Amino acid sequence: MTDWRIDNAKWTRGAVLRLAKYSRPREDWDHDHCEGCWAKFMESGPPDALTQGYVTKDNHRWICPQCFRDLKDEMGWKLL
Ligand SMILES: [Zn+2]
Repeated sequence: MTDWRIDNAKWTRGAVLRLAKYSRPREDWDHDHCEGCWAKFMESGPPDALTQGYVTKDNHRWICPQCFRDLKDEMGWKLL
């Protein structure tokens, strides 16, 4: 079985992730997207925006809870 999200998330293969509340990296940057499905992360905003998820050690790449559940074995993600 292949999942389109696996190709999107290839840069995070084998990454160590931690569960965190989303915080914007800069004043002029208010959101990020899930590396897998492009779901939107925001500190606050519309109800469909995610406010927490799984982030890489450099706080740069975000994974939503749904993708984490579905893809963690395939992607070899480790939870800190
Ligand atoms: Zn996702």
